[in-house]
Amino acid sequence: MKTDVAILGAGLSGLGCASFLRQVGIKVAVLEKDCVPGGKVQTVQEDGYVVELGPLGWLDKEPAVAAFVNQLGLEALPAEEAQGQRWLLKDGSLHLLPSGPLSFLRTPLLSGAAKLRLMREPFISARRDGEESIHDFATRRFGKGVADTFFGAMVSGIFGGDARALSVQAAFPLMAGWESESGSCLRGAMRHMRKKKAQLKAGESPTTSGKLHSLPQGMGQLLQVAAQSLGSAYHGSTEIDRVVWRHGAWVLFRGGQEVGQADHVVFTTPACVTAQLLEEGDGSLRRAAAGIQGASLQVVTAAYAREQVAHPLSGFGFLALRGQGFRPLGVQYPSTIFPSQTPSGKVQLRVLLGGSFDPEAANLSDQALQQAALHPLRDLLGVQGDPERVWMRRIAGGIPQYALGHLERLAVFQQWERQLPGLYFAGDSLFGVGVNAVLKQALAVSERIQAKHFA
Ligand SMILES: Cc1cc2nc3c(=O)[nH]c(=O)nc-3n(C[C@H](O)[C@H](O)[C@H](O)COP(=O)(O)OP(=O)(O)OC[C@H]3O[C@@H](n4cnc5c(N)ncnc54)[C@H](O)[C@@H]3O)c2cc1C
Repeated sequence: MKTDVAILGAGLSGLGCASFLRQVGIKVAVLEKDCVPGGKVQTVQEDGYVVELGPLGWLDKEPAVAAFVNQLGLEALPAEEAQGQRWLLKDGSLHLLPSGPLSFLRTPLLSGAAKLRLMREPFISARRDGEESIHDFATRRFGKGVADTFFGAMVSGIFGGDARALSVQAAFPLMAGWESESGSCLRGAMRHMRKKKAQLKAGESPTTSGKLHSLPQGMGQLLQVAAQSLGSAYHGSTEIDRVVWRHGAWVLFRGGQEVGQADHVVFTTPACVTAQLLEEGDGSLRRAAAGIQGASLQVVTAAYAREQVAHPLSGFGFLALRGQGFRPLGVQYPSTIFPSQTPSGKVQLRVLLGGSFDPEAANLSDQALQQAALHPLRDLLGVQGDPERVWMRRIAGGIPQYALGHLERLAVFQQWERQLPGLYFAGDSLFGVGVNAVLKQALAVSERIQAKHFA
């Protein structure tokens, strides 16, 4: 195989990058170790159920995602209005999460003192140097009440991680940037919104709804169609074990045999795999990658007859505060969010377990995992009887943890990109977790390759 660009990994990053490059006539080859494309994205279709065992969808905010979907000739499926409501499990009860300034003032989730502290945020002086944990940042800017309640839940919801361990600059760069650029997160957020509105008015940025989206046949449809569109340029069940820069080309090996050559190579593999694949002189990449660990996640989705669940299941679902005796990280209501993906008269409850607070969840037997996921819902959501169906998936290292020091580790990868011609990194272990972040990076990488290729 000889190609312009070899892409390792057929998750969102790899297939997104391939699609952007093919669009401008650049020859690609995608090499994926698994027999099916998708990486973390995995959808099961069964008797009218569309069940997501990876990401549930994306918020329509990032033009790169819309570009990817459009290039494949697909139409995104918007979520129902009700999905906007999100809940928090605190002290055994579900509370609606505030979504705007007024609801923050009214929420029972914060004490009066915590609300007053929150209002002082614009007057807190900015700290401009070095990385800081999400918890320290949130405490300093918004106060302990907001940090413990909202940031703790948000970090366990997005990263399955610990706000005290993760870097705010790496995990939430936009928010950290608001402080450094505007001196305050609230002022920065308002400035950001005004800028977006102005860009929209001037036609400089595409209209986005901000709503959650998926595909009619689930997230897997996106990756299946993307892989199919590549034809013979897609190589499934092809685990690459070494990549070497030799005589002006990137050479790929599998089981000691050369399988292909390319002018450019894009790694979308987990950082530790990338470091192993690249031949290394001083071990710097391997040391940097060792600091980017992934937390394992377990997804348990159960289907019930509607009448088995007393709770109205309104909204997106709920996050659970850690340390309060409720084991799941959160529960989502897919049948409310995308009703067309569940047969009528049935509901889906999707439970996430594990993360960095609960690594033992990965070792539970199937029966124990199902019990750990579904038993706590009985009283809370009024669930009666056994589920009609259950789907489970264990994702080892499912969510990369951007621990303090992540920016330095990232700098090592970027240094390698600068030193070796035609070497690029993408993927969620480096530049951002989530559909929007990984496709934004895939587009940026494809643009850098285009600039070199057509120079
Ligand atoms: C349970 C769960 C729920 C999530 N929910 C959401 C959500 O609702 N919304 C959202 O925006 N994000 C969500 N995310 C995050 C999002 O799914 C990921 O950030 C994104 O899918 C990562 O895509 P990727 O292509 O960068 O990585 P991956 O999907 O991990 O792809 C990397 C690929 O590289 C392949 N590979 C590895 N080694 C080799 C090798 N040696 N040779 C060849 N190929 C190799 C792997 O098999 C894999 O296919 C969720 C993640 C999880 C785990």
